[in-house]
Amino acid sequence: MRNTVEIVGIKVDKVDFLEAQAKVKEFLIGDAFNMIFTPNSEILIDAVKDRQLGDILNKAQLVIPDGIGVVIASKFYGTPLKERVTGVDLSAEILRVGAAMGSRLFLLGAAQASLELAAEKISKNYKGIHIVGTRNGYFSEDEEEEIVQEIQSSQADILFVGLGAPKQEKFIYQYKDKLGVKIAIGIGGGIDILSGTAKRAPEFYQRAGLEWFYRLLKQPSRFMRMTKLPKFILLALIDAVFSRD
Ligand code: UDP
Repeated sequence: MRNTVEIVGIKVDKVDFLEAQAKVKEFLIGDAFNMIFTPNSEILIDAVKDRQLGDILNKAQLVIPDGIGVVIASKFYGTPLKERVTGVDLSAEILRVGAAMGSRLFLLGAAQASLELAAEKISKNYKGIHIVGTRNGYFSEDEEEEIVQEIQSSQADILFVGLGAPKQEKFIYQYKDKLGVKIAIGIGGGIDILSGTAKRAPEFYQRAGLEWFYRLLKQPSRFMRMTKLPKFILLALIDAVFSRD
């Protein structure tokens, strides 16, 4: 049974990092297909407008709060989330657990150079993981069937999809019956973090819940995207007040 809090209509699991880690183990031991999504405030506000994205998020087996805004918003609903669990941290944990289990990994997304570097680093840092396929994230719709076929025949256990939202969520959902993996997770720019092409915010920013601010300093072009954070908080507050019984 999942223990979730519904924030602006999207179910988010009330898990801390250890509980998310336990879920990952459970998924890898089992045989079923599991979708893991890692929404932040931007993705949740997009999901309010894009109902298809919202429905997909609500069909996942695990949805973790990848953003301080999501944790803050959960408090309005009277059922606060325990902590922020980032997609980057959970992906690293999947690699660690997968390495111990000798899992097979397929990497889909990012630019070719970043993807190759990420594959190299994963092989070096997570001995035991078998990288059974890679495909960069710049493809046309016509190529999708062939990519799905490649994933299926690789017999991967884990699929990392780093295409950015909502592309990655829609891809995973559209092909869920054909992928043949145990875990498919949308990791946004996670491949760039794994390759070292993009850097995470220093610890200080992460602990203070200011990772968004660090990203804004590094990439001022994200400003418009980030105006979604206060909009999301306001929307969640209104939604929480009106959904009270
Ligand atoms: N990307 C991709 N194909 C596309 C568009 C984007 O593979 O058609 C990749 C891009 O190279 C980057 C990631 O998707 O690695 C998105 O990164 P971003 O930081 O924008 O994602 P976020 O984590 O903010 O969702």
